[in-house]
Amino acid sequence: MSADSREELDVIPIAKPVIGPEEEAAVLEVLRSGFLSLGPRVPEFERLFAEHIGATCASAVSSGTTALHLAMRAVGVTDGTEVITSPFTFVASANAAVYERAKPVFADIDPVTLNLDPEAARAAITDRTAAIEPVHIFGYPADLPAFEAMGLPIVEDAAEGLGAQHYDGPMVGARGNPAIFGFYPNKQLATGEGGMLTMGDPDMKVMVDSERNQGRAPNMDWLDHDRLGFNYRLSDIACAVGIAQMGRLDAMLAARAQVAAWYYEALADLEQERGLQLPCRDGARHEGDKRGWFVFTIQVPRDGPTRDDVINALRSQGVSAKPYLPAVHLMSYYQDTFGYREGQFPITEDIASRSLALPFFPQMTQSQVERVATTLTTILT
Ligand SMILES: *Cc1c(COP(=O)(O)O)cnc(C)c1O
Repeated sequence: MSADSREELDVIPIAKPVIGPEEEAAVLEVLRSGFLSLGPRVPEFERLFAEHIGATCASAVSSGTTALHLAMRAVGVTDGTEVITSPFTFVASANAAVYERAKPVFADIDPVTLNLDPEAARAAITDRTAAIEPVHIFGYPADLPAFEAMGLPIVEDAAEGLGAQHYDGPMVGARGNPAIFGFYPNKQLATGEGGMLTMGDPDMKVMVDSERNQGRAPNMDWLDHDRLGFNYRLSDIACAVGIAQMGRLDAMLAARAQVAAWYYEALADLEQERGLQLPCRDGARHEGDKRGWFVFTIQVPRDGPTRDDVINALRSQGVSAKPYLPAVHLMSYYQDTFGYREGQFPITEDIASRSLALPFFPQMTQSQVERVATTLTTILT
């Protein structure tokens, strides 16, 4: 082994899925069955997922983004309408509205939870508002009771919120609003690519299942289509991986929570003495809010090296890190298409400019967490 590859092995990755013999066996079984798509694994994965979080029903689709697109259509987002969402999110949250020629209307975030601020969202409502789209960013539950009180359709971007729980009881994704999850390899549950739309209305599921499959009704022949549809199906291969992942979901979520606890402990001095901002604790907004751990993001202090300098210094010492998240309204597509400008959402802009993700995955060890903390300490002090 060359010195170079040995150094590479030493890099702590930013994310890493847990894949074992169960996933391997499940995939092999599907491959040998010859039933690679539209087979029995799809409804089985949907049922297990819905049961796990307590949702009435669920539809498996090809990604979190396609789930979001179908959710937008399901609540009536269309040409000339507006969708209110957070600018501090992954770009897909806003793109999904644009797919239906609606305008993403941003409103600023709560500086503590980093989620869409209900009062800012309320102030952005117009007679064109078709939906409010809260995002459970970094797995912290958005304040859904406050949004629900506004009386408009809601689409929940829960792509980062698997395992989170609202202070008034339900798990994230189980309130009945259409809510979407994503299964890209860095997410709490991974199928490679994949997504799930949970909802409370079985009639909505009939429509979603048709639209994900070229607009075909359940009782129709293969080539008969009565509405516009897409190919947003999830293969049985991916669903088999998802089913195997469901069997280890609680353990993976517990392992993530343990890694987060190690980080809080290892970064306590930097938090107290250097003003390093750590993720808000459970119950930070409402007693009983519970995070479903997705990433561990920090905000660098204003009076030190810049976020990008910190990232480069971490990387040069074998610690992966990335800016997380950049503000969506400042992306050139959003500036050019919708006229968004710097200065419109000051809380988001401040936090987005100082926020970065550290390595975070279920199999991360305490000594890896300590190495990250030690490296960060030398950079910040
Ligand atoms: C990952 C993610 C998505 C999109 O999921 P994909 O499966 O990658 O399409 C949407 N919104 C948020 C907040 C995400 O983190």
